Amino acid sequence: MSVIAIENLNKSFGAFNAVDNLNLTTKDGEFVVLVGPSGCGKTTTMRMIAGLEGSTSGSISIDGEDVTNQSPSERDVAMVFQNYALYPHLTVYENMAFCLRVRKWSKDQIDAQVRKTAKALDIDALLERKPSALSGGQRQRVALGRAIVREPRVFLMDEPLSNLDAKLRIEMRAEIVKLCRRLKITTFYVTHDQLEALTMGHRIVVMRVGVAQQIDTPQNIYDTPINRFVAGFIGSPPMNFLDAVIERSGLLTGPGFAGGVKSALSSRSGAILAGVRPEHLSPASEGVAGREGTIRGRIELIEPLGSQMMIQVAVGPSLVSAQFERGPDVEVGRDITLVHRPNTVHAFDAKSERSVLADAQ
Ligand code: ATP
Repeated sequence: MSVIAIENLNKSFGAFNAVDNLNLTTKDGEFVVLVGPSGCGKTTTMRMIAGLEGSTSGSISIDGEDVTNQSPSERDVAMVFQNYALYPHLTVYENMAFCLRVRKWSKDQIDAQVRKTAKALDIDALLERKPSALSGGQRQRVALGRAIVREPRVFLMDEPLSNLDAKLRIEMRAEIVKLCRRLKITTFYVTHDQLEALTMGHRIVVMRVGVAQQIDTPQNIYDTPINRFVAGFIGSPPMNFLDAVIERSGLLTGPGFAGGVKSALSSRSGAILAGVRPEHLSPASEGVAGREGTIRGRIELIEPLGSQMMIQVAVGPSLVSAQFERGPDVEVGRDITLVHRPNTVHAFDAKSERSVLADAQ
């Protein structure tokens, strides 16, 4: 259980800022997910928290103690990385006991702690096996066990599930969340998968070229993304963006697009970028074409998704995706009128790409 405070943290490699002025204070036992595209500075941030990489400036403290210049072992953090690198010649038991032996725990203490941790991770039946006799998911559990067996102050996980197949990833995702909530260890978790971020984190840090774009709960990030980048990165399928104009009345208009948006926009007029999530668009009932809140275009592609379907619609110069319950009246080449759910249209400044709504608040 720990509080980690990161203040004005920077890391430069020559003239390149890999991490640019990061500020974040966790809550005790919080699960924080760092998410963003490749090269945005996630791993560099983790390595600085772990003490494997020095910072160019700024500070990191754990429970009020400045650890910025401490070695990794002094910080009492545990790490699990993508290549979990278990010792191949040691059994699961020995892999987990190793770090406790280094810390000079007694034989009995080690035995009790290894067995308790193995039980928590459901690997107690595997303790005598070598890593080569384990499945990918089991190996990953052992790697987690090896990291948590000594009950560190902070748990750092860098893409720990990326070697697993899709089904196992989902299972392990849930396991990790349950485990971390039970143990209440403050955790930083790196992923480039926005769904993993949405489902796992108490809070998400969305990063882009070294800069934290938004730090907030998954729900707030999904509902009120701060800029076009966050809006497009979080949410699947990605948000649609359409060139539009805000009329003085507060209505958005654009090619094929006419929609009422939140009243906060009525104080502003001019060109903006409208954003609407595919899952907030559905076919309109008869006779509403051209009314407020509708988008009209030609169906270009239909992708069946089981109970739902995804369609792509050419709206003016843009291609708009919509995802909704499967229905009979949808055919490639036909025109369709889509209606958006109330209060789900976002608006971004055409130049700065910042959310107009966020700025209006
Ligand atoms: P990925 O998801 O691909 O692992 P990431 O978000 O974890 O990416 P980092 O590994 O933190 O990204 O790297 C951030 C940037 O810093 C990248 O542009 C990378 O090339 C650069 N970088 C990282 N380490 C070094 C280094 N030792 N020397 C120079 N540049 C580096």
